[in-house]
Amino acid sequence: MQAIQPNLYQLEIPLPGNPLRAVNSYVIKGGERNLIIDTGMNRKECREVIDAGLRELEIDLAVTDLFITHMHADHSGLISHLATSSSRVYCSQVDADLINHTDIFNDMPVYATINGFPGAEKAVQQHPGFKYGNRVPVNFTIVKEGDTINVGDYQFQCVATPGHTGGHLCLYEERRKLFIAGDHLLGKITPNISMWAAEGNPLQDFLDSLDKIYHLDVQLVLPAHRQSFTNYQERIDQLKLHHQRRAQAIMSVLEQGPRNAYEVASQLDWDLSYKHWHEFPLPQKWFANGEALSHLRYLERKGLVKADRSGEIIQYSLA
Ligand SMILES: [Zn+2]
Repeated sequence: MQAIQPNLYQLEIPLPGNPLRAVNSYVIKGGERNLIIDTGMNRKECREVIDAGLRELEIDLAVTDLFITHMHADHSGLISHLATSSSRVYCSQVDADLINHTDIFNDMPVYATINGFPGAEKAVQQHPGFKYGNRVPVNFTIVKEGDTINVGDYQFQCVATPGHTGGHLCLYEERRKLFIAGDHLLGKITPNISMWAAEGNPLQDFLDSLDKIYHLDVQLVLPAHRQSFTNYQERIDQLKLHHQRRAQAIMSVLEQGPRNAYEVASQLDWDLSYKHWHEFPLPQKWFANGEALSHLRYLERKGLVKADRSGEIIQYSLA
């Protein structure tokens, strides 16, 4: 447990076996009511650590609300474990719907398979969202862009930042120049921008969401993974550059000829400890494929890549 600012604490919740290593849960003690931002996965290792941290902070869950930056299991998995009948659970409409309707895990393998992913059903069964998600339907309090959440003398403004997920929300504390970033801005690692549907353009959404927040006055970013950081605009610039480079790398792969998304993913460099694609565990191949797909969609909408959807497997080539 780490005190960040008066009455604002960070709990590092471990994610064993996951390259993310841990997720940061932020706790604000507000006098009348407290707020917990993101929860950890629905697994023993996370429950034990968050329970111990909340005990140490003497948090009474009966007067505590939850804010869920987005639907991923490392952020939402313990909602039902922590929320009491008097807790409000804040989330965007889009991500709240996804948390309460788990049929995304039926649809994803279909789209993965037509993009050349072998063993998509098995990959979904190993998916952390499938294994460690919140199980019980949640009665959410829906929040959106511009809504304010007051906790003690903190005044948070909801900032809609779609991209990492369709309904991702950040919290901005203007007076303290604090930005609680969820997975929209991370310091040492890059947010995964994945796509598993025939519709949408999440990478474009993400880049637009980076532009949208660029001019906020921020001195400290509190991300959901790894360390907090202060170089707000510089980090936004770096993330934009990263995705332009990834898009460029995909164009270079396609210069060798048409490929499906899985083949594209296998030919890219990934910042993981495995040397070769065939050593990647199935969930890592899954995330890599999702990321390749979001870039292919982005390039297709830009008119730089074309997709041939006439066969069983979608083939991508330079336009
Ligand atoms: Zn996430």
